[in-house]
Amino acid sequence: MRTLVLLLLAVPIAAQSINDRVSAELPALVETYKTLHTAPELSTQEAKSSALVASRLRDIGYDVTERVGKYSDTEATCYGVVAVMKNGKGPTLMIRSDMDALPVEEQTGLPYASATKGVMHACGHDIHMTTLIGTAKVMASMRDKWHGTLVLIGQPAEEVVKGADAMLRDGLYERFPRPDFVIAVHENSSLAAGTIGYTPGYLMAAADSINLTIRGLGGHGAAPEKTKDPVVMASEVVLALQTLVSRENSPLDPVVVTVGSIHGGTKRNIIPDQVQLLMTVRTYKPEVRKRVLDGIARVARGVAITNGLPEERMPVFELLKGESIGATYNDPALAERLASAVSKEIGAANVIKIDPLMVSEDFSLYSLDHKIPSVMLNVGAVDPARVASGEPLPSLHSSKFAPVPDATIRTGVRTVVASAMEILR
Ligand SMILES: [Zn+2]
Ligand SMILES: [Zn+2]
Repeated sequence: MRTLVLLLLAVPIAAQSINDRVSAELPALVETYKTLHTAPELSTQEAKSSALVASRLRDIGYDVTERVGKYSDTEATCYGVVAVMKNGKGPTLMIRSDMDALPVEEQTGLPYASATKGVMHACGHDIHMTTLIGTAKVMASMRDKWHGTLVLIGQPAEEVVKGADAMLRDGLYERFPRPDFVIAVHENSSLAAGTIGYTPGYLMAAADSINLTIRGLGGHGAAPEKTKDPVVMASEVVLALQTLVSRENSPLDPVVVTVGSIHGGTKRNIIPDQVQLLMTVRTYKPEVRKRVLDGIARVARGVAITNGLPEERMPVFELLKGESIGATYNDPALAERLASAVSKEIGAANVIKIDPLMVSEDFSLYSLDHKIPSVMLNVGAVDPARVASGEPLPSLHSSKFAPVPDATIRTGVRTVVASAMEILR
């Protein structure tokens, strides 16, 4: 350690590499990470996390605005943070971290495990905030090597896909410099710490939440001929939906239709008036998304017609706008450009092209429908020995998910700084 410190001191600051600068910050960053991990806050309640991010960025010299954001469906305070550093003429780059945690009871047994019962940073947003702070510090120390404008944002409420919309709605691109490029990192629970995953094109799926109410005509369970049974119709609908994926869709376009919950009935000998199906749908392409959503409504209506339901008892299809979000799309040219810049920083063998995922994110909203090139990179967070062993690993959102802090944060900051330098150099 001492030799390392002496070595660092011996290198003139201007000649320090990105990695030297990250090394100097790493102990403090790991402490920040542990502080954040111990004190997770649920979506829309990120008061303390956002205050910590804001104060660190202000201390480094950024022009910081807090409480940026207006939710579309609630008066709740939106804890968005925007930090700006203007450094001469050049492009504007926005870097985003999310800040919210999940309703999960942590079971990692770590000394810095969550101190808040039932709430846990199980999606790595604590790592993302730490990476943002580390990036802010290193980029500020390298001001003489880049020019342009850096906008760093702490976004609340990612897990409920409301935060990006809230910040944009509150004038993120009008009150602050509008970005030419947007980047972010997200932790990955199957990649080794020290590695980066990147995906040109679609990275994450569109998610749609649907409540489908199958209506019937209830009555006595012993006299089905006097009823229209919505339990039987709901069962038919669940099976008929499967062909939307297997028969109507190209096998080359990923689609998931999951009925996660069925509600109906009160007693074994009563045929109820209605049954509700709660569903999630995952797709990538907008045209596939539309076809599948239309298909669900069509199949439900078809089953109702087959069963002789009158027009006024047709199924009710409700798309929950506030719980639905488009796909996350990485601008392919920018993704390749950043992957090549990051390869130079951490070694080409550590930069891995990965498959898209069917989970979802609200990050792509910042691209304004692909008008602003945006890229989200994945940062490996798992002990390399555990990845190599082939043992089953806890996924993101698991109560046992525990990233290795040092290597994950180091690689995260090096990656984001190398990406920022590629754009702003
Ligand atoms: Zn998550
Ligand atoms: Zn996440």
